[in-house]
Amino acid sequence: MNPLVDTIVAALAAVLENPANFVPLHIPEFSGNEKAYLADCIDSNFVSSVGAYVDRFEEMLAEFTGVKKAIVTVNGTAALHACLHLAGVEPGDEVMVPTFTFIATANAVWYCGATSHFVDVSEETLGLDPFRLRTYLEEIAQVQGGVCRNRKTGARIRAVVPMHSFGHPVDLDPLVQLCEEFQLVLIEDAAESLGSYYKGVHTGSFGACAALSFNGNKIITTGGGGAILTNDEELGRLAKHVTTTAKVPHRWEFNHDRVGFNYRMPALNAALGCAQLEQVPGFLARKRVLAAKYQEQFAGINGVRFFTEPGFATSNYWLNALVLEEERAELRDCLLEQTNERGLMTRPAWTLMHRLPMFSKNPRMDLFVAESLERRLVNIPSSAYLAGA
Ligand SMILES: *Cc1c(COP(=O)(O)O)cnc(C)c1O
Repeated sequence: MNPLVDTIVAALAAVLENPANFVPLHIPEFSGNEKAYLADCIDSNFVSSVGAYVDRFEEMLAEFTGVKKAIVTVNGTAALHACLHLAGVEPGDEVMVPTFTFIATANAVWYCGATSHFVDVSEETLGLDPFRLRTYLEEIAQVQGGVCRNRKTGARIRAVVPMHSFGHPVDLDPLVQLCEEFQLVLIEDAAESLGSYYKGVHTGSFGACAALSFNGNKIITTGGGGAILTNDEELGRLAKHVTTTAKVPHRWEFNHDRVGFNYRMPALNAALGCAQLEQVPGFLARKRVLAAKYQEQFAGINGVRFFTEPGFATSNYWLNALVLEEERAELRDCLLEQTNERGLMTRPAWTLMHRLPMFSKNPRMDLFVAESLERRLVNIPSSAYLAGA
């Protein structure tokens, strides 16, 4: 027992109105046209790769995020892989990736035969720190003939993949500038940030392309699914092509003009997506209400802070987070135990990528901020319904 842990458990219970039943971390909500669109999709017989719902979901996504093209995929990892492939990431390349992320980011780099080069994050955004990345690149990289090379390994550094952790945007302006100077392709892992804006512009529209995820735990879900976002029409066309086996359109012939992927989203999932996206403004509004309640409740508690959106951002507050002070880090496990015991689901941050056995030998900068956050951060219940009626 610890007084601070007791206070935190009581504060969580107060915001969640002393629930009698188990409160999960994040659950989806199907209170719109999901069943109607699914039934309509089945009745149409076009449940697979072609069908009106695929086109419609892609148009809705492009409109909502303000990008020129959205291409839906089977999941977010596939969208990321396709983005990296389209950005020209090749075997032997290095890609700058935050160590504080979900495994999909590093896996997608590996699928290209490339190496994740791990970058530290900022305490203010929980995402890639563009200022420390600059200092680091100035030290280890060299740009010659439009190619950025790691002076130590000799490998080409092709791209940077920032991830907007729990829906909080990274500081994109300095990152865009950095990518231009160092000739790096910017690809946003926006899997967690549908409905999050950087200086009023939707995340996922700052680089060459970006990936979204509609997994069951994300802000909207299609069961499983993802999307590629891009403002480059030509890249968008190519993205559709390579994610649909690179088949050359023809009424009866099966011809393929390059190696492609079968990454298309089935129409059934897109039908769910259309219904979910219609409700996203409501989900976002209620998630902000919940975050404001947490913020108020935790404002007066010393030793822990509720993580709030950076000044330049409007975040979707996909997953809410508490961050213990460094001197209180040893309470994390006790906090996880007590909250889950009380039926309030919490969980720690992901194990950092550079600690996983398959990535432990990868190149990296000093990762002390991520390592510190890993010891202190706990995600707390975040579903939209928790905002109350
Ligand atoms: C959810 C997520 C993805 C994609 O996951 P899928 O399950 O493949 O849709 C990618 N990156 C991050 C950071 C994620 O949280």
